[in-house]
Amino acid sequence: MINSGQCPYCKTILYSLTVEEVKLKIGYSSNGWHGLSYSCPVCHKVISVQINPNLLNKDLEKALKNSHKPGY
Ligand SMILES: [Zn+2]
Repeated sequence: MINSGQCPYCKTILYSLTVEEVKLKIGYSSNGWHGLSYSCPVCHKVISVQINPNLLNKDLEKALKNSHKPGY
C-alpha cells in the first residue's frame, strides 16, 4: 500500500490514525452525542471528528424522546 495522505500539521505520511471516543455537545446542553475523533499518531493533533455511526440510532432515539418533554 502506497499512501500519500499527510498530516496537515507535522506532514507525516499517514498509514494509520488514532481513533478515540469523544462526547459531542451542542452549546451548553448537558445532552450530547457519541462521537469519534481521528488524530495523527505522531503529533496527536485532531484531524477530524464525526458522530459515532455505531451509536447514532441510540443517540437519535434519546434526542427524540427528550424533544417531547415539556420545557425542553
Ligand atoms: Zn501530525
